[in-house]
Amino acid sequence: MPDLLTDVHDFPPTAILTDRVHRVLGLNPSAFTGPGTNTYLVGVGGGEPVLIDTGAGVPAYLELFQRHLGETGVSVPRRCLLTHVHPDHIGGVAGLRELYPELEVYKHPWPGKDERFPVPMRPLADGDTIEGEGYTLRAVHTPGHAQDHLCYYLEEERALFTGDVILGVGTTVIPLDGGDLGDYLDTLRRLQTLDLARIYPGHGPPIDAPQEKIAEYLEHRLMREAQIVEELQSGVKTVPEIVASIYRSYPAHLHGAAGQSVFSHLLKLEREGRVSGDEGDPPRFQLTDGGDGGARNAGRGA
Ligand SMILES: [Zn+2]
Repeated sequence: MPDLLTDVHDFPPTAILTDRVHRVLGLNPSAFTGPGTNTYLVGVGGGEPVLIDTGAGVPAYLELFQRHLGETGVSVPRRCLLTHVHPDHIGGVAGLRELYPELEVYKHPWPGKDERFPVPMRPLADGDTIEGEGYTLRAVHTPGHAQDHLCYYLEEERALFTGDVILGVGTTVIPLDGGDLGDYLDTLRRLQTLDLARIYPGHGPPIDAPQEKIAEYLEHRLMREAQIVEELQSGVKTVPEIVASIYRSYPAHLHGAAGQSVFSHLLKLEREGRVSGDEGDPPRFQLTDGGDGGARNAGRGA
């Protein structure tokens, strides 16, 4: 569930990206998914490939997927790895299992959420590896956008499948439900320590300057934080008031998602003792005595 996406034209529904990796588009384009959710076949060079993510459950995706296997001669995947439980990534899992009953589905558990998708799921944890002919994938736990989020590191290409943590278009939203901005910033800093040549994002095209993109994402968050602190310097404000001001150049239909990200910033600032919120509906936020000091050094320690 990314937000603030730009339009992407001519994004092909299927693509042979390398001799190991193919992309099949989930066919669910929208303001929040860009051209739609990417699903990736990894290890297509021989043997059984693995599928990363499943799209939103659009019936035409299954047809496209089968056609792609037929046209390229790629074997049916035996395993499916999910990045996280958001419906635009997991929504296609039931249809795929119906089509391929042998398909084994793996994800990092999120009790209370996973049950909505009644297929057997095998648990994956940080550091677990999934190997096949020509590929080794390592799970990297990357909470912040969603608490169950896993990225997958493909050793042979020094590439990372990032789901919704890093996107090829737009920036990631931090949802109120299961998102956490502090975790997200920690996740970005962890990704900075990986040896990366490429990112395969959950939405949009591959990113071939991965560390530049990760740095950009960190800077973007610190910029938003500085803007929010600046807004509060002029007085007590609600989330909608802050959104109306700092997202004024964005279309109104994206303001709801932007509001969730602003709220996540405020919660983080509150934890740091720089901001306090009241019990109002909507709650009103103000800088604490220490908040002004934080504003002068916006982003410090964030
Ligand atoms: Zn998501």
